[in-house]
Amino acid sequence: MTISNFVHELGFGTRSVHAGRRPDPTTGAVLAPIYQVTTFAQEAPGEHKGYAYSRTANPTVVALEERLADLEGGVGALAYGSGIAAVDAILRLCDAGDHVAIGETVYGGTIRLARDVLARHGVRASFVDLGDPGALERSFGERTRLVLSESPANPTLKVVDLAAVSRIAHAGGALHVVDNTFCTPYLQRPFDFGADAVVHSTTKYLDGHNATVGGAVVVRDDVALLERLRWLRNATGAIQSPFEAWLTLQGVKTLPLRLDRQCANAQRVAEFLAKRKDVARVLYPGLPDFSGRALVQRQQRRAGAVVSFEPRGGRDAAVAFLRALRLFTVAENLGSVESIATHPATMTHASVPPDERARRGITEGLVRLSVGVEDPEDLLADLSQALTVSCRREVAV
Ligand SMILES: *Cc1c(COP(=O)(O)O)cnc(C)c1O
Repeated sequence: MTISNFVHELGFGTRSVHAGRRPDPTTGAVLAPIYQVTTFAQEAPGEHKGYAYSRTANPTVVALEERLADLEGGVGALAYGSGIAAVDAILRLCDAGDHVAIGETVYGGTIRLARDVLARHGVRASFVDLGDPGALERSFGERTRLVLSESPANPTLKVVDLAAVSRIAHAGGALHVVDNTFCTPYLQRPFDFGADAVVHSTTKYLDGHNATVGGAVVVRDDVALLERLRWLRNATGAIQSPFEAWLTLQGVKTLPLRLDRQCANAQRVAEFLAKRKDVARVLYPGLPDFSGRALVQRQQRRAGAVVSFEPRGGRDAAVAFLRALRLFTVAENLGSVESIATHPATMTHASVPPDERARRGITEGLVRLSVGVEDPEDLLADLSQALTVSCRREVAV
């Protein structure tokens, strides 16, 4: 019996290491080799060992897909060259004239893709407050094919009742797809709440080392949907490379270890910021006054490792704070072992028009922290000194 045959009965930590793993049959190598190859020999035309061409399928990529499908509890997974390519694959399930309802607070690139690319191909998107069931129902039309949600959402961490959204989507004949990038299957299992498919930017927590850009889709049980997506991925050439898949496989092994540490650190950071007089507001699902706290406790194992906050003094204070950081790197990306700080208004959400940013709560002073695995005392010391510097700037002005 291979490891992958009995792995379903095992715990999450064990499956993070073992799902999809089989020692290499020719050498016994313990890790799946990087099959850095374009094509595969055929005995006779069309007669091969399941692999024909690496744009269609590649054994290293399949090893990652098996692990991700196992961890989410789906029937199968497909890996893509980026998270946004995975979102694109989902949106391409729509034909011209179809409509998708997208949560109004989602990753900025998802908004840009729907609005500036897919719209030109005749797919209509509306951005809906998924916390308002009536608004979601009203957005539905005859041609609504999909509801795409994100919870907690980027960067305000607004949470969505996934089961409620699944019910409305299914009643309207649409699929419910959840972008589970912020939680990963360790913290949240959208299939338990009726979702039909899950999207990931594996770039974030699944890799966890700032080493790759990649994405994935996991399908709950609809094999025809999985095969349609597989066909589309081959037709559009969106597959992940073997090397990215291999690195991501290494990252996934420590996912629960990293996330436990990162969530504990994030809780400390959020509580620290909430006590500071020079901080105007803190958004973190682990704080008792977080709106949607009860839902978080129902839906997630832990509160996650992204903390957004606003120093007093708006944009200038935020910029001064970011400049003063020493241990946190100011960069795009989140989810990695290294702590990162981002200014959504000029970085991740720059492509969203300012008035719409404001409507989504993405103020000019908002800072997003992706808390890593460093020693918490060092993180707090860095935040403290940077806040003090940003405060002094205000006094000096
Ligand atoms: C980063 C991100 C994406 C896009 O992923 P890339 O790998 O950067 O293409 C999609 N959704 C969410 C929630 C993200 O954070």
